[in-house]
Amino acid sequence: MARRLFALQEVLSGHILYRTVPFCGKNEKFAAEPAVARAMPFASWAEIFCALRIVDTQAESVMPTSLFSKNAALRRLLDRHLPALAREETLAPEGITERIAAGSMILLGNPGHKQLAPGLVGQPARVKVNANIGTSPLCNNPAAEERKLAAALAAGADAVMDLSIAGDLDAIRVSLLAACPKPLGTVPMYAVGQKILDAGHEIAEMRPDDLFAEIEKQAGQGVDFMTVHCGLSRRGAQMAVDAKRVMGVVSRGGSMLARWMLENNRENPLLEYFDRLIDICLPYNVTLSLGDGLRPGAGADAGDAAQWEEVINLGNLAAYARERGVQCMIEGPGHVPLHLVRGQIQGIKRLTGNAPLYVLGPLCCDSAPGYDHIAGAIGGAVGVEAGVDFLCYLTPAEHLTLPDEDDVRAGVMASRVAAHVGEISLSRPGALAREAAMNAARRALDWQGMAKAALDPARVCSRRKEHEKEDVCAMCGKFCAVKMLQGTGRRHE
Ligand code: SF4
Repeated sequence: MARRLFALQEVLSGHILYRTVPFCGKNEKFAAEPAVARAMPFASWAEIFCALRIVDTQAESVMPTSLFSKNAALRRLLDRHLPALAREETLAPEGITERIAAGSMILLGNPGHKQLAPGLVGQPARVKVNANIGTSPLCNNPAAEERKLAAALAAGADAVMDLSIAGDLDAIRVSLLAACPKPLGTVPMYAVGQKILDAGHEIAEMRPDDLFAEIEKQAGQGVDFMTVHCGLSRRGAQMAVDAKRVMGVVSRGGSMLARWMLENNRENPLLEYFDRLIDICLPYNVTLSLGDGLRPGAGADAGDAAQWEEVINLGNLAAYARERGVQCMIEGPGHVPLHLVRGQIQGIKRLTGNAPLYVLGPLCCDSAPGYDHIAGAIGGAVGVEAGVDFLCYLTPAEHLTLPDEDDVRAGVMASRVAAHVGEISLSRPGALAREAAMNAARRALDWQGMAKAALDPARVCSRRKEHEKEDVCAMCGKFCAVKMLQGTGRRHE
């Protein structure tokens, strides 16, 4: 029964009916039935149960029952944190376990990361937001990165990636891990590339053993998830070059690997020796963030053959990683015009077996530098409605410079707004409850209530400060429309 209900939710939240319903962790009672009918007037029950049977059969054949038996670190982590995670996400514990086993949800957490609160990624868990920080050769200040970490966490980031490429990367990573109670991710290829380029060598001189050694070292340090561009094949790199893309390859890690493959005429070591990567990550429960090295870097490049070639590879790798007991998520685009976002998300989800999808944006226009956090949030909201599980922020500094603390704050908030907007459209109970609380407070001119319900309470308080003694706000003053009609209903009674 549980599997059948799980399948129902998968159908409803997947690609077949395009809409989902609030389950509130009470799906065992089929409490959602009336909501289903309301949410999807175009879908007959015959269609729903027909789809249910299809997914049920698929779930039977593809669910890797071995995940927990093969990944002892994950099993222990889940045993310890499941009750709290279920409460936090308002989901049934068995629903969480089943989704993790099936690979549509992941639990980010390396037992070596001290003081970590592990996090779930995969709808219907709350959509999560990641903030990228890290040094660059032109802005190398580790203390500033620690302040940016604090700013990201204070703004509500659910995860942070250290993308440092300058300075003592081990020291930076270790200190950020110690200061970060949320899952922390990295791109190990950066550290390998830094050593090679700083020594004045060519990336083509990289030895695959050095890459695997770096991954193993970072796993031992406690890194929770790693971007690894395993799906970028020699063939895909050549396709991207031959396609004469407007922007070519825009992934830093992807471009290094593509160069290595094309110069050496060899296959990507992360693809060729994928088992070696699995063997390293398994004991640490390091989640593979299967990178999109060929993601479009311009709207005009979205959806070309090279991009989909990589996605197909990622789907196969994700299925294999699950069979071996290693969790994974899929990284997604990238620059995608708004009208293509839904199709991209649904296509990627379908080809990767509904693995959690982690997207950069999607950035739905190319011409808004300085405002890319807004363009990214628009794409992100549409993406969440289409099935995205994890948003990687963009900041106002994107394409221009390294973000500062203010950029980090603005980026996290923009992505949190996008996640919330998408969740409202999916009728997620938490998002709807927040909306209801805000509207109740607004009706009552209850400014504390408004701050409490807001995504950014501190911003509400600071903008209100100048007129905080007034019961109305400075927008209308004594012309306040809310106040104008207060009490009129009672007089008529
Ligand atoms: S003053 Fe105007 S903007 Fe402010 S609460 Fe009243 S109606 Fe709303």
